Amino acid sequence: MISHARSQKLFAEALKLIPGGVNSPVRAFRAVGGQPFFVDRAQGAHVFDVDGNDYIDYVGTWGPAILGHAPAKVVRAIQATAVHGTSFGIPNPLEVKMAKLVCAAAPSVRKVRMCNSGTEATMSAIRLARGFTKRDKIIKFSGCYHGHADSLLVKAGSGALTFGHPDSAGVPAAFTQHTIVLPFNDVESVKAAFTANPGQIAGIILEPVPGNAGLYVPLPGYLEFLREITKANDSLLIFDEVMTGFRLAWGGAQQRYNISPDLSCFGKIIGGGLPVGAFGGRSDIMDCLAPLGPVYQAGTLSGNPLALAAGICVLEELADGDAYNRLEALGAQLEAGLREAAKSAGVPVRFNRVGSMFCGYFTDRPVHNLEDAMAADRARFAKYFHGLLELGVYLAPSQFEAGFLSTAHTTAEIEHTIAAAAKVLKTL
Ligand SMILES: *Cc1c(COP(=O)(O)O)cnc(C)c1O
Repeated sequence: MISHARSQKLFAEALKLIPGGVNSPVRAFRAVGGQPFFVDRAQGAHVFDVDGNDYIDYVGTWGPAILGHAPAKVVRAIQATAVHGTSFGIPNPLEVKMAKLVCAAAPSVRKVRMCNSGTEATMSAIRLARGFTKRDKIIKFSGCYHGHADSLLVKAGSGALTFGHPDSAGVPAAFTQHTIVLPFNDVESVKAAFTANPGQIAGIILEPVPGNAGLYVPLPGYLEFLREITKANDSLLIFDEVMTGFRLAWGGAQQRYNISPDLSCFGKIIGGGLPVGAFGGRSDIMDCLAPLGPVYQAGTLSGNPLALAAGICVLEELADGDAYNRLEALGAQLEAGLREAAKSAGVPVRFNRVGSMFCGYFTDRPVHNLEDAMAADRARFAKYFHGLLELGVYLAPSQFEAGFLSTAHTTAEIEHTIAAAAKVLKTL
């Protein structure tokens, strides 16, 4: 058994001072049992804990680390920028550069506003959609996570799901009465919602490839259907690409699936590992934002030079070179190896993958939505998780989270991972 003595000591202290010992709930390992390790440093595809253990990392700080941890170029960009000041509260040139990059990557985005987290991005996009359409209702899908803003914290994924409280305490029913929650990949329920609420639906918000209840993909024609029905009803289609943006392609899921949403939300990768969010879309909609229009949105640290310097560096690195081909190849290698390992161990696993995002569900049924995902054997996942951790492979500590590859992963590390998984699967 590897030692976690130092992590255990720190966690005991943390529990006295920080609720649950963590600053974001999924980190607490509650879904798999045991205690989290404390990170000393991270480099490339590896995370090193305070007890000196070395893990191959498939969490990638929950998505942002697409180039791996602490890429030299990004670290240098942050250092060089910090020397000149860390926040100004008045425009800086990096804001224009970042806006150009986001608009170039996602042509549906004609104007973009920077903010400080994915939660801020989706919260603001919803406010904007309501202000623009002068309608109150929004449709979201169960299992999709859009951050922790009140009106979106209904049947949400990620930690909200892992802990079995998809609806948070402290959110007044009145705040969510305009949120219509429907199953993903189900055409009829969306049609019915538009019929039942004529002229009242401001928009539909979704993760185009939901990655906060594990990972499942839109069925053929589903995204096209959502695009058409929103257009026909003068409602807005809002892609929450906080996770998928710059990950599934340089232009995100909207490029990969060739859909043009009205508004898009970004975060994670575009901050290069620093806190960031952004939302953007059609000019006529974006111009409803203050100071041009009546929809208020603001932020003391928005457009922060450090976060933008890091993000710009990552986006430029992804723009040239064959990062996405490399990620696809690594993903295919991992998928093939894990499928084979599960088969020879006789353990039923449904493996879903899009590019560098993946999830293996411990179930023999296909997984297309939250209901399917809930059929997975969580106890089995917990054993798998701990078995892999012991062998130096770090997956997200919940069956309902996606795994992420980075360009820093090597084929040798993937092979090591497959061998470790094969070993653990035989014990399940
Ligand atoms: C992570 C995530 C968010 C929330 O972003 P934060 O930066 O954690 O606030 C929103 N939407 C999606 C799809 C996410 O994956």
